[in-house]
Amino acid sequence: MNQSVRVRFAPSPTGPFHIGGARSALFNWLFARHSKGQFLIRIEDTDLQRSSRESEENIKNSLRWLGLDWDEGIDVGGSHGPYRQTERLDIYHQAVQKLIDEGKAYYCYCTEEEIEQDRKKQLAEGKTPVYNGHCRHLTEEQIQKYRAEGRKPVVRLRVPSGIPIEFDDMVRGHVTFDSSGVGDFIIVKSDGIPVYNFAVVVDDASMEITHVIRAEEHLSNTPRQIMIYRALGYDIPVFGHISLILGEDHKKMSKRHGATSVEEYKRMGYLPDAVVNYLALLGWSPKDEQEIFSRDELIREFSMDRVSSNDAVFDIEKLNWINFHYMKELSPGALLDLTLPFIVQAGYVSEPISNEKRKWLERAVWCVRDHLYYGAQAAENIDVFFRDVPEVTEEELLQMMHEESSPVILRAFADAVRGMDSFDEDSIKTVFKGVMKAAGIKGKYAFMPVRIALTGSMHGPDMYCLITLLGKEKVLDRLEKGLRLCSR
Ligand code: GLU
Repeated sequence: MNQSVRVRFAPSPTGPFHIGGARSALFNWLFARHSKGQFLIRIEDTDLQRSSRESEENIKNSLRWLGLDWDEGIDVGGSHGPYRQTERLDIYHQAVQKLIDEGKAYYCYCTEEEIEQDRKKQLAEGKTPVYNGHCRHLTEEQIQKYRAEGRKPVVRLRVPSGIPIEFDDMVRGHVTFDSSGVGDFIIVKSDGIPVYNFAVVVDDASMEITHVIRAEEHLSNTPRQIMIYRALGYDIPVFGHISLILGEDHKKMSKRHGATSVEEYKRMGYLPDAVVNYLALLGWSPKDEQEIFSRDELIREFSMDRVSSNDAVFDIEKLNWINFHYMKELSPGALLDLTLPFIVQAGYVSEPISNEKRKWLERAVWCVRDHLYYGAQAAENIDVFFRDVPEVTEEELLQMMHEESSPVILRAFADAVRGMDSFDEDSIKTVFKGVMKAAGIKGKYAFMPVRIALTGSMHGPDMYCLITLLGKEKVLDRLEKGLRLCSR
C-alpha cells in the first residue's frame, strides 16, 4: 500500500476509560508511529442516552496521561472533521440519501410489534429470524398510508443474499461470513440517528482510514460494515481485531478483578510509561525475551503480525513488576512527587511543606523504595517513620527479643548512640559495627533486636537509613522500649 497509514481510535464516551480501550488506542498509536502515519481520535457518541462529555474528558485526559498524542481529531482538529459523531449527522444523511436514491436502501415502516411478531413466527418455524423484507417494495399508496398513521420509518440496507463476505484480518487471518443470515438491517433508527455500523463506515471512509484496529467484540459487526462499504462504493480498509482482555479467571475483565479504568491506575500512582509498556505486552509479543521497552523501542519493534489472536490475560503482578522497574529509575525528587499525595492523604504531613521537610521526605521515600510497586504504597511503607512502634505480639519476634544477646546489643547500641555527635548513615554504621564487635554478637542476633525495637517488625527499610531519618531522640526512645520487651 502506497497510501500513508491512517488509523483511528474511536471510543464511545459512555463511562470511565477502560484499560482495554487504552490498549486498543495504544496499538493504533504504535502502528501509526511505527509506519510514520497518522493517528486520529473520533468520538462515537450516537448513543445519546449513554454518552457524556464527562466521559469524553476522562478518555482524553487518560490518553494524554498515557502520552498517546493524536494528529487529528477532537481538540486538535484537522481537515476531516468534525470528529464527534453527533456533529456529523448531515454527512450521514447525505450518504443515506445516496443509498436511497440508488435503491440500495429503503424506508421501513414496520412497527416494533410487527417485527417482534414475525420474529416469533420465524422462530416457531425453526428459522433464524431475519427481517422479512415487508417494506422492500412499498407502493406510493402504502407509504402515504403509513405516514398518515404517523409511523416513523427506519432506513434499512438492501442486503443481497447468498454473497459471502470475506476479509483478511491482521490478527485473525482469513475470515468468512455468510450473508444469508443477516437480512436487510437497519442503518438509521426512527429518530434519524444512524446506527454505529453505518456511522463508523461513513466516518472511516471519509476520514481516509487505512487500517481499522479495534477490539474483537466488533468482529461480528465487520460483515455488516463491509456490506455498507460495498453499497456506498467505498474502499474497504484493512481490519485487525485484537483479543479481549480477560481477568485471571479467563472471564471478561471487570471490577471484580480490580481496577479497570486508566484513571484508577493513575490515582494509585502507577507511571504512564510502565502502563504503556505493560499494555503493549498484552497481546503483542516482541521478537525476543525483552520485557522492558522504552516508547521509542516499542515504536520501532511493534508490528501487527506479532499480535496474538489468543485471549490476553491481565496480570497485575506483571504490571507491578514493570512499574517497580520504572519507579526505580526515578530521581529522589520525582519519586517524592509521585508519592507525596499519598503521604499527605495518609495524614503524615500537611501542605505547604517546607524545603527542609521535603528533603527529609525525599530521603524517607528513597529509603523504602525497594518495597514500592506503585505510588500509593508509599503511605503504608513510610508509616514506620511516623507512628509509634506497634505492640509486639508475634511469637517469632518475642522469641528473638528473649535471646540472651538481645538486651546486650540494645543496651550497648543505645549507649553508643547517646554519645554520637553526627548522625549520618556512615557514622551509624561504623558505630553499630563497633558495638557488634565489642559485644561479640553477630548477624541476625545483632540486627533483628534493633530492627524489632525500631519498627516492630523483622522487615522494612534499610536499617541505617531508617536510624538516621528517625533521629537520635526517637531511636533512643524506641531502643529503650525494645529493652523492656526483652525482659517481659
Ligand atoms: N465506538 C466503538 C467502541 O467504543 C468502537 C468502534 C470501532 O472501533 O470501530 O467500542
